[in-house]
Amino acid sequence: MRDWLFLACEAGHDWQSIGGCNAGCGPDCSCSVPVNICSRCGDCDYGDNEDARQVRASCRLGSDEYRV
Ligand SMILES: [Zn+2]
Ligand SMILES: [Zn+2]
Repeated sequence: MRDWLFLACEAGHDWQSIGGCNAGCGPDCSCSVPVNICSRCGDCDYGDNEDARQVRASCRLGSDEYRV
């Protein structure tokens, strides 16, 4: 039984960074966002996380702060 693993994840996944991918916030976008995978259940956020939201928001504002 692995049910307890998923119960634990209901409160929040144990994200581990596995790298990054293109933010995809625009046709000329070259931003990258972190991609995380849960060490318990193996779920992947595919770049859907708070850091990615900050990168995309920053890109819209024309800031280079989060660009790599
Ligand atoms: Zn999880
Ligand atoms: Zn961008």
